[in-house]
Amino acid sequence: MRIIERVSEMQQQAEAWRHVGRRIALVPTMGYLHQGHLTLMREARNHGDEIVVSIFVNPTQFGPGEDFERYPRDMDRDRHLAEGAGVGVVFAPSVAEMYPDGYQTFVEVMEVTRPLCGQSRPTHFRGVTTVVAKLFNIVKPHAAVFGEKDFQQLAVIHRMARDLNMDVQVIGHPIVREEDGLAMSSRNAYLTGDQRAAALRLSRALDEAESMALGGETRGAVILEVVREQLGSNGEVRIDYAELRDPETLKSVDEMKGPTLLALAAFVGRTRLIDNRVLRCRAR
Ligand code: AMP
Repeated sequence: MRIIERVSEMQQQAEAWRHVGRRIALVPTMGYLHQGHLTLMREARNHGDEIVVSIFVNPTQFGPGEDFERYPRDMDRDRHLAEGAGVGVVFAPSVAEMYPDGYQTFVEVMEVTRPLCGQSRPTHFRGVTTVVAKLFNIVKPHAAVFGEKDFQQLAVIHRMARDLNMDVQVIGHPIVREEDGLAMSSRNAYLTGDQRAAALRLSRALDEAESMALGGETRGAVILEVVREQLGSNGEVRIDYAELRDPETLKSVDEMKGPTLLALAAFVGRTRLIDNRVLRCRAR
């Protein structure tokens, strides 16, 4: 497996692959890899002959006071994990390589970035779309795989690729969870034992809502009340948002009429966790 740190070298490699008809599949990550990331890499093998994983903690998607500096990093470990997952190239540029002096261009998707995470992290998606657009231009992938764990991010990237005619197939992959239900995340490394236990309330709240929907409950307010109760808003867990949204447009849903996204974000101690599930109504 090769590690490439230079943009020009990655572009040359991508061009060489394309020249001989190889399909390129990209998995963008911020590293500190876990089974969720590795599952995306295995999925990528179904969509490309050459698998590239990018590892880049992207400063432009972190707001002031967020965890950019302390975000967990372990390149040696990541390199071994990626190699074991059949990755051919890890693209791991420095911040200066991606944002050299004089950098001043950003990609901004409008409506779909406004609610949910866009409310509490107003500059986040602009950083995400900018770095993903850059990665598409550098790695030249035919396909790129993203996790549904970051459901809004996936919707935003779908929108960007469609709106800007990017010739990349954007593929979503379901959330990978720990055995007890906690959605895997590099940020879980921040949690103390007690916080790890409290964090389980997110997936439990999703389970509860799913049962209600399957049981015939369609009233958003009723479902969200139970969800908020499950999450609890004292002690360890502080709700950032708990909302029902249309899975494509992310417009707010009051009454479930079809598959509906339940999206959660909560602070457990200082750590902000997100989770979601697409709820299905009982067939009538
Ligand atoms: P990150 O390194 O957190 O930026 O994540 C890189 C990619 O992995 C994104 O597309 C995430 O949605 C995806 N991902 C992270 N955690 C999970 C998970 N538990 N299940 C599925 N995909 C995930």
